[in-house]
Amino acid sequence: MIIKPKVRGFICTTAHPDGCKALVKSQIDYVKAQPHAANCPKKVLVIGASMGYGLASRISAAYSGGAATIGVIFDKPASGSRTATSGWYNTAAFEAFAAADGLYAKTINGDAYSREIKEKVIDLIRRDLGKVDCLIYSLAAPRRTAADGTLYTSVLKTVGKPYTNKTINLKDNTINDITVEPATEEEIAATVKVMGGEDWKEWIDALKAADVIEDNAVTAAYSYIGPDITHPMYADGSIGKAKDHLFETAKVISAEGSVNAYISVNKALVTQSSAAIPIVPLYISILYKVMKEKGTHEGCIEQMCRMWNEKLFAAAPVTDEQGRIRMDDLEMQPDVQSAVHTLWSEISTECLTDCADLDGYHEDFYRLFGFGVDGVDYAADTDAAVSIPSISSDE
Ligand code: NAD
Repeated sequence: MIIKPKVRGFICTTAHPDGCKALVKSQIDYVKAQPHAANCPKKVLVIGASMGYGLASRISAAYSGGAATIGVIFDKPASGSRTATSGWYNTAAFEAFAAADGLYAKTINGDAYSREIKEKVIDLIRRDLGKVDCLIYSLAAPRRTAADGTLYTSVLKTVGKPYTNKTINLKDNTINDITVEPATEEEIAATVKVMGGEDWKEWIDALKAADVIEDNAVTAAYSYIGPDITHPMYADGSIGKAKDHLFETAKVISAEGSVNAYISVNKALVTQSSAAIPIVPLYISILYKVMKEKGTHEGCIEQMCRMWNEKLFAAAPVTDEQGRIRMDDLEMQPDVQSAVHTLWSEISTECLTDCADLDGYHEDFYRLFGFGVDGVDYAADTDAAVSIPSISSDE
């Protein structure tokens, strides 16, 4: 079929296998070309491995330290006239490249929150790897079905009082004010259930109980802080409450001994998840402009490769005074934030392209789904039915 982007709201419902493959290849090539830390882990489990920061973590693990990787994803294969999800194509490409490079890579597709998927992963580790020495937790999900069957839905709202600020309508590139309403106590609790640390801890406990995680293994989950303008929406909002819980969970996991848990505070980037947060996409477009001009812009792979080799697996982990890894170090530089602040106060629909890197935002958005990649023939008849080597074809 000829595969074209079909954008609905914050997502694109189609994905291009060749574009996804080319982008996975360029991420692999990037990591191969970087210096690598001496003591990288060798058997790495990545939860949420098909896109964004999780995919970049898996690639960094495999191509920095030659690690065997198991990825947990929640993606759909192609069916009928529907393409697969981009996470499916990314994973198919990653496994094929890893195999060609002699690296073990297998994937479990299903709901990472469920007991069933945890058991499948444990069986796979036991059978193929014995034990893992690192777990990366990079889930970004809108909902979670807990063990007792309760469905929790996360919200992207403020806490306490409404917040009004500028936002961008990416359909017509206009800037308007938006008022984000506060979450109810119930919504905050549900957001913490979905995006907090409870499931991360359940993974660690399950791996420990099954004796499939090494003593002194390392685990990391990802968070965001950002500047004042995004705080009511993010750090101080419902998602921020979940991230606070994630941070507290890291302390609990580490305090229990045998597994060292870290929070890495990452840079704001265009991913499928961040596109849905009000106000944040406008901040990201301005940030891209400033950081690209300063030559300090990084994408997911630059962030995760640097985290892997210069921070998390450096001779001693490099953290701030609270024990967090700060991959937002370049984003939060005072000169970057002061330039963003100035542009934020000036930006309007009329001067949008002068004040923000809107093309960069849209480019990254389409690339999430494998579109707009140099060298890919989008007019060509393309087979959408791509299989992931380690997943049986009856999926
Ligand atoms: P993403 O949407 O690109 O990736 C999320 C991954 O989770 C995907 O692979 C998806 O398939 C998987 N997933 C979702 N639900 C699942 C489920 N039930 N079972 C198994 N897999 C599931 O998101 P991202 O932006 O890379 O976010 C990853 C983490 O990084 C999140 O904790 C996010 O808060 C954090 N973070 C993101 C940013 C940003 O700007 N994007 C910045 C800092 C931190």
